[in-house]
Amino acid sequence: ATMLEVSGLYHRYGGGENAHLAVNDLTFTVETGQLACIVGPSGCGKSTMLRCISGLIKPSGGEVSLHGDRVDGVPKDLAVVFQDYSRSLFPWLTVRQNVEFPLRWHGIGKDERRERAQEALEWVNLPNVANKYPWQLSGGMQQRVSIARALARRPALLLMDEPFASVDAQTRFELEDLLRKVQSAHGSTILLVTHDIDESVYLGDRVLVLSKSPATIVADLTVDLPAE
Ligand code: ADP
Ligand code: ADP
Repeated sequence: ATMLEVSGLYHRYGGGENAHLAVNDLTFTVETGQLACIVGPSGCGKSTMLRCISGLIKPSGGEVSLHGDRVDGVPKDLAVVFQDYSRSLFPWLTVRQNVEFPLRWHGIGKDERRERAQEALEWVNLPNVANKYPWQLSGGMQQRVSIARALARRPALLLMDEPFASVDAQTRFELEDLLRKVQSAHGSTILLVTHDIDESVYLGDRVLVLSKSPATIVADLTVDLPAE
């Protein structure tokens, strides 16, 4: 089944002489259970595209649908992981409180919050840091907490905006492997954007290649993983 359908999406910032066309006529779908990577050079419009999909900005034109419903505002069953983990976690909340925070926001009761948070922390191999504060953890661990927080929501679609661009190379390899494992174990549907071609081919079942600004799709590749 189709989870995400983007059709004829375009977005222009500003108006008149200062108008800047950031995304131009993007059309693609992401199927349920897919890990789709969108790769394109810095500044080509990837973040703008994700902001349109997540309802943070209203696109100048085109349509975005999530499991058949047109996106208008911020959809409840969508979660986003950003590049900058240091700004995305609340420093005054423990890891557990950070993971539970959006669940509380969505009205999920105490016991279930606790259970989901613990489970999500186990998925990212962090079962023992629930009572620590983010600043007591390494950058890679903080980004795992951000991923756990997104997964605890059990989103229909997980959007990831350059999620591994701020960690060192070794940690990036670990996090990429972890994401692949979590995704195949839970059948999560993920759309990840990156400027790193190697990363997109390593991670994606599917790789969409964007041109330089304004973003438009120049290739759509299905990656056949070698048998283990
Ligand atoms: P990417 O995520 O691929 O690096 P962005 O979507 O952040 O690209 O940016 C695409 C283009 O739109 C860039 O030229 C950027 O300068 C411009 N842009 C991004 N955000 C804004 C904004 N809020 N106002 C005006 N221009 C913007
Ligand atoms: P990234 O490449 O990581 O997406 P950018 O450098 O494009 O980040 O953008 C960082 C922030 O600055 C974003 O919130 C974006 O909206 C804003 N921004 C980028 N370019 C412009 C611009 N030309 N005018 C106004 N805001 C911008």
